[in-house]
Amino acid sequence: MTNFDITGRNKIKRKPDRGHYDQETVYAIVDEALICHVGMVDDGQPVVIPTIHARIGDSIVLHGAKASRLLKYVGDGHQVCITVTHVDGLVLARSVFHHSMNYRSAVIFGSGYVIEDPDERIEAMRAITEHLVPGRWDDARQPTSKEDNATALVKINIEAASAKIRIGPPGDDDEDYGLPVWAGVIPVKQAFLSPEPDSALADGIEVPEYIEDYSR
Ligand SMILES: Cc1cc2nc3c(=O)[nH]c(=O)nc-3n(C[C@H](O)[C@H](O)[C@H](O)COP(=O)(O)OP(=O)(O)OC[C@H]3O[C@@H](n4cnc5c(N)ncnc54)[C@H](O)[C@@H]3O)c2cc1C
Repeated sequence: MTNFDITGRNKIKRKPDRGHYDQETVYAIVDEALICHVGMVDDGQPVVIPTIHARIGDSIVLHGAKASRLLKYVGDGHQVCITVTHVDGLVLARSVFHHSMNYRSAVIFGSGYVIEDPDERIEAMRAITEHLVPGRWDDARQPTSKEDNATALVKINIEAASAKIRIGPPGDDDEDYGLPVWAGVIPVKQAFLSPEPDSALADGIEVPEYIEDYSR
């Protein structure tokens, strides 16, 4: 198991027992998420932008329009902070104070570069497509050179990371356990419903298995 070094940058201070620094835990959280949020400080103004991501080894790739501020910022080599969050439950305690959530979250630090190499660009586009729907890259039409030219791609090296995970029931104060107040967890789950065919779908195209069986 490979661990990220614990430094002032990624050390969890509050509830450190919920912290994890191994790649396996961090990457599982990253890979399950459909999107991430990328934090940057542009001209002194902090801003956090949601976007699609994919992980390739120890890097995160992002794509978008060439005019995207985020992609230009990453391409200029600035440090960014990427967060990913899954909410697994609403934790209802007997006291208002101890209400919480069950969650898995990851915080990643690193800097990146613009992907120029054609093979690396294809690898990144493929990773992003496959991250969303495994099996899609080989099924859908490949990008034309015009589409490729219109797409900015960046790769961020994961330099430091942490994960934080809360599981389990509420933790009330000892004297509150006898209170006549319901306590427990409302589990939260992401659901993918039946695929809805495009009204312009050509005749005779069945829903592929990789879409029919889609889950995360
Ligand atoms: C869904 C959800 C809801 C939350 N609600 C609350 C809330 O209402 N109030 C509250 O105080 N806290 C909440 N948290 C926890 C919050 O994310 C921080 O962990 C908390 O603010 C304590 O941070 P800190 O002071 O220990 O560390 P900070 O000094 O803020 O951060 C130091 C380093 O610790 C790591 N770190 C901190 N938090 C996380 C995290 N969540 N995941 C991965 N790495 C992390 C990062 O690498 C960070 O750079 C919530 C977390 C999640 C995922």
